[in-house]
Parts: sequence; C-alpha cells; structure tokens
Amino acid sequence: MNDDADEPTYRLAELTWREVEAALEETRTLLLPVGSVEQHGHHLPLGVDVQMPEAVAERVAARTDCLLAPAIPYGVSPHHTFKPGTFTVESETFQHYVRDVCASAGEWGVENVLLLNGHYLAQDPELDVVVRTLRTEHDLRAFHVPLSDVWAETAEEGRTGEPAFHAAEFETSVLLALRPDLVSMDEAVPVEVPDESLPLTDYDAYGENRVGWALSADDMADLTHAGNLGDPRGATAEFGERLVETAVSNVATLVEALDA
Ligand SMILES: [Zn+2]
Repeated sequence: MNDDADEPTYRLAELTWREVEAALEETRTLLLPVGSVEQHGHHLPLGVDVQMPEAVAERVAARTDCLLAPAIPYGVSPHHTFKPGTFTVESETFQHYVRDVCASAGEWGVENVLLLNGHYLAQDPELDVVVRTLRTEHDLRAFHVPLSDVWAETAEEGRTGEPAFHAAEFETSVLLALRPDLVSMDEAVPVEVPDESLPLTDYDAYGENRVGWALSADDMADLTHAGNLGDPRGATAEFGERLVETAVSNVATLVEALDA
C-alpha cells in the first residue's frame, strides 16, 4: 500500500479510521513495539529498549504492507529502580495492558500480532504468557519477537567477545546506529561482573548457560555502580546497523509469510 514513498501509510497513529479500513484490504498483520523506560548506565538514554523495537518495526512496516502500532513504552523493570528515571509496572498489569491492546486490534480486523520486545530478556516471560492468551482466548495469531533472538546470529558472529549484558556492546552499538546524538561514548565505563556473583550464569546475553533467573534492584545496585553490565567501549555504529538489519530481515520474512 506504500505507493507514495513520501507518505507512508502504515503508522496507525497517523492514519484515519477510513485509511485503516483500506489498509486492512492489504494486510491483517500488526507490529507492536514493546519496551521499557529504565536506566542504561552513564552513556545511554532511558528509552533504549523502546527506541530499538520502534526502529526495527518502522523499517519492517516500510518494506512490507503491515501496520505499525504506537509503542508500549513502559515495562517490567523492578531491577532498575535503583537509579532515577526508571519506570516499572507490575507483571500482571503489564500482561493485561499488552493483552488488551492486542485484543482490541483483533476486534477491528487484525489477525496477526507481532510483539517486538526490546527489553532484553527481562520481560520475556510476561510476553510469552500474553501470546498464549491471545491465541487461546482471543483467536489472534500472536508472536513474541525478542530482538535479542532475531538478531542473534549477527550478535554472536560480530561481537568483540567481551561479556555483554545490560547497556553493553549490543545495545550501545544499536543506539550508535539509530541515535548517535543520544550516546555519550566518552562516559561509557566497563563494569565487570565477578563470576562468583551469579553462579548460575556466565552473565552474558548469549552465554552457554540459559538457566532462568531474576535480579532485584538491590542485586543490581551491588553488581554495578554505573548501571551497565559488561563493557560498552567496543560498540560501533556499523555493528549496530548490522544487528538492526538482521532483525528487520527476519521479522519481514515472518510478516510476508503471514500476509501471503
Ligand atoms: Zn536495554
């Protein structure tokens, strides 16, 4: 439906209801970016986790015929409340809110919903439950799409090899690609997490040990003075662009299959 390159017609908040009605002739798929507003160390802004899925979703929508919903910016971030600027909502509140947003789209014709999750593993359990509820109780084909999964192949192949988790190499690289004006590399500091602090994981986003675990705000305050976990200093915009493009390509493949 993007006949006029200057006037994209996929951003729901910029459309009229009649334009949505027309768009539904071309697609039944909705992208919903889901993130969080939380501390990301000295060098990254609070909105990283929503800026990343918004940018990926924007590119996917521009390349396919699907619709793009306004993002859900607030997420489940109790472990980041030890620094100012962090918002968190209860797990159940979050699940119900995301579910209701998607279910209401199902009422006006959306059949497929992709939840693009930028909150880096932390709210995966909630979104897995939401997806199941949407499928079983609302007859929607819903998918949980964690960005860390859909760019994993590029992340593992292109990384420096330093342990990386929160606000480290991956997120910093992506923000350098998307919003370099918001990144202060001069302020970036490495935070090394001692192995003995968390015996059930090697503390890496793509570590060998995928045992589930959760951190409290007190745990995080003990682990990191700056707020990040890992070393962000090897981040580059070029790597970030490759992460974003891998995610876009994988998500676009799914959208095209759904709307075929
Ligand atoms: Zn993040």
